[in-house]
Amino acid sequence: MREAFTTSQKQDGTQGQATILVIDDEKGMRDACCQTLTKDGYRTETAVDGDSGLQKIRDVKPALILVDLKMPGMNGMELLERIRDIDPNIVSVVITGYATIESAVEAMKRNAYDFLAKPFTPDQLRIVIKRGLERRRLAVDSARLRREKEMMKENFVTLVSHQLRSPLASVKQYFGVIIGGFTGEVGTEQKEMIEKASKYIDDLLQIINDWLDMSRIESGEITEGFEPVALAPVLSETLELLKPLAEAKKVTIKLNLRDDVPMVQGDQEVLKQAFANLISNGIRYNREGGVVIVSVGEEVNDLVVEISDTGIGISKDNLHFIFDEFFRVKSKETRGVSGTGLGLPIAKRIIEAHNGSIKVVSEVGKGSTFCVYLPKTKVKQCE
Ligand code: ADP
Repeated sequence: MREAFTTSQKQDGTQGQATILVIDDEKGMRDACCQTLTKDGYRTETAVDGDSGLQKIRDVKPALILVDLKMPGMNGMELLERIRDIDPNIVSVVITGYATIESAVEAMKRNAYDFLAKPFTPDQLRIVIKRGLERRRLAVDSARLRREKEMMKENFVTLVSHQLRSPLASVKQYFGVIIGGFTGEVGTEQKEMIEKASKYIDDLLQIINDWLDMSRIESGEITEGFEPVALAPVLSETLELLKPLAEAKKVTIKLNLRDDVPMVQGDQEVLKQAFANLISNGIRYNREGGVVIVSVGEEVNDLVVEISDTGIGISKDNLHFIFDEFFRVKSKETRGVSGTGLGLPIAKRIIEAHNGSIKVVSEVGKGSTFCVYLPKTKVKQCE
């Protein structure tokens, strides 16, 4: 009975039968392998040394290669490295008459998948080929799924930004026109209703914008424009933007800056967003008359920005989850605070994209301190 693949099984994860290349200087070995493999329905190709083998790889794009370790000219180890550079998904199986543990380990380090010690039987060859092609199929499948996932995400981002965000923004504008009385007089009750609807739209737009920010950060797009950034203006401008929120919440914000704050490597606008998320949380989850203190310090290679608040604090149980997407603490203190549960995950991803980290300590009823660590650059700020 035939135990090998048939041609219709598309063993290499692509269309059609798998091509197997045998690179060996021994004619007897090439012929024997090809005979078994052709009988089992594979397409076979041969090469007598490393150089002609590499040319064949480019020409016939094999799914699996049998590589002899000892050949004149380029040796098998070098050949394995060159194969990996051409296509890491090609499965290389080493065949050698001088099998030692050391050579096996060396070959594995160079991406060899398996080992066949000469002499071997046709059945031993079949088992190794079958296993190798299965692994190739899995690798090709997972690469395809990864590509599909990326495409779906891209399509979803387009859908969210154009088909959801834009119409919502237009509805909000229409509401503005109605409330402004441009279409005729609006009664108090109607005005209240439209204002409520407008507020719901704001919340929805906030979720959409936060989600789009997350996708942008995850795609690695933000690291493209990194340059030395002075953190002092980043922080003072962020605080300036948050002043109205602090005033509305009756919370005082204080900024403790030293004269000579080292620069960090990054994107100024994106960093502002991370700090705005952290500082606005300090304000929103505070109590009336509370304080948020932002101070900058240094620790060995890092610049440390500490954001401390005198707010409601976070329990130990909840502290584990606050950087998870869409997580929000549900309590009577947080009920009145609207949010998306994306502010902290966004801040964390931004800081990590800057090779930094965030730590938090908190005590219920006393407040929280978020510490942002960012690697200093060598350039000093001239102020
Ligand atoms: P959002 O504030 O939009 O809900 P975040 O991701 O910024 O989302 O925060 C997640 C949750 O962590 C918040 O819902 C809140 O319960 C809690 N939290 C964040 N920052 C603070 C803080 N400074 N003090 C108390 N709770 C906080």
